[in-house]
Formats: sequence, structure tokens, C-alpha cells
Amino acid sequence: LVSRKKKPDNTIIDINGEKFGDGEQHFIMGPCAVESYDQVAKVADAVKKQGLKLLRGGAFKPRTSPYDFQGLGLEGLQILKKVADEFGLAVVSEIVNPADIEKAVDYIDVIQIGARNMQNFELLKAAGEVDKPVLLKRGLSATISEFINAAEYIISKGNGNIILCERGIRTYEKATRNTLDITAVPILKQETHLPVMVDVTHSTGRRDLLLPAAKAALAIGADGVMAEVHPDPAVALSDSAQQMDIETFNRFMAELKK
Ligand code: PEP
Ligand code: MN
Repeated sequence: LVSRKKKPDNTIIDINGEKFGDGEQHFIMGPCAVESYDQVAKVADAVKKQGLKLLRGGAFKPRTSPYDFQGLGLEGLQILKKVADEFGLAVVSEIVNPADIEKAVDYIDVIQIGARNMQNFELLKAAGEVDKPVLLKRGLSATISEFINAAEYIISKGNGNIILCERGIRTYEKATRNTLDITAVPILKQETHLPVMVDVTHSTGRRDLLLPAAKAALAIGADGVMAEVHPDPAVALSDSAQQMDIETFNRFMAELKK
């Protein structure tokens, strides 16, 4: 069902007036994790001032170590929703447990399924049963074919509003956190009718590579870019090394608009 052979036209997903898949470029920006009302509000203010319409932030954080900050859970979703309503933004946030999907839809405009859950088939099926767009990230070591099949799990349950997100894959290369598979973008665009984004934060893991990676993503035909922004990355509770502060984010957007 996700194949372009089946449906030659792009799927266009309207989220708060941003039409993903329309050939324009869209941005999903926000902190790695929701930490507090003030932290999210500062980022939302910057996102709004850039004329953007979507705000990301993790409330349920799938961390590598169980001793690292796990996110604020439902309280995090409540903070995000409150801030997003105040600034007129739509919320993108990750859900990790199929049982949380039903209550999360009251707080979230786009359900993010993270890399670690790309093949959590029960979660994919649950996301397929709700009337909310899904941002599906590529698995840590997933082939493009496995990625497409994960999207197929969602659409096969009735929900075709899926945005694919390349976020880097595990290779032998250690210079970046993951290896950004940039040609996945045109391959996914050719093989499916779904919008394709690139997450430059988790793919590179390096603040100095966010801008060149975003330029590459847009140049190769991505429908948009995701990146993380924090008012003070040095004290961030997760992904401290790779989030942009607000000044850097403003420069990043200005460069991309050029
Ligand atoms: C995220 O976007 O918050 C995240 C955890 O990314 P990924 O699932 O791609 O690692
Ligand atoms: Mn992160």
C-alpha cells in the first residue's frame, strides 16, 4: 500500500497548515526531551518566531541506559500540549508503548515511532488504528526494505498518513554517531508515495554537522528536516552534545532559507 506503483501521486499530510509531501520544505524542531515548562516555552518561542508550525519533544525517552533520564511521561505530554497551544504549534512526540497511544492522541498531533521501535509490530499496528499522522523513524540497523515494511504495518491497519524519517544507521564509522544514509531519501521517494524527512541531529550526533547535513537532505529531495534545539544544551538531560542553542538554531534556519 505504500508503494508508488500502487499510488503514483505523493501523499500530502496537512499538519497545522504545513503540507508534508507538497514539494515544499518543512521543519520539525524542538528539544530532545521535555524537561520543564520554561525549557519548552523558550524553544517554542524561537520556533514560532522562525514561522514554523511544529514542535517536537520527547516525553517517553527510549534511553540506552536505564539509569539515564527516561522522560517526564504523561506530565511531559501535558507540558508540550500547553506550550504548543499557547504558541499555536502542533506537537510531535514519541510513543513507546502501544497501550499509551489512545491517551496520547489527546496531547499529540503527530505520533513519533522511534528508531528503536521501528519493528515493534504491536506499536506499529496500534498507530495504524488511530486517526493521527505518524512520523516513523528508520531503525538503527534497518534496511530500506525493512523500513518500508514497517510503514506497511501502519498503513495496512488503515492509517496512511505516515512520514518516513531517515535518522542514520549503524555502520563501522565512528566519526559520526550514526551514518546518515542520504541516498535513502531519493530511494524512499521513488519507491513510496510518502513524505520523507531527515533527522540531522541523531544521524550525525554532531552540532558542527547539522547545517551541512540539512543542506544535503534538502538538496537530495527531502520533504523536510528534523533537528533538536535546547535553550542551554550544556545542561540538557539528554543529547547534550548535539542540540543547538537558540542562537545557533536561528543561524541554521537563516542559512537554510538562503
Ligand atoms: C528522538 O527523535 O527523540 C529519538 C530518540 O530519535 P531516534 O529514535 O531516531 O533515535
Ligand atoms: Mn535526542
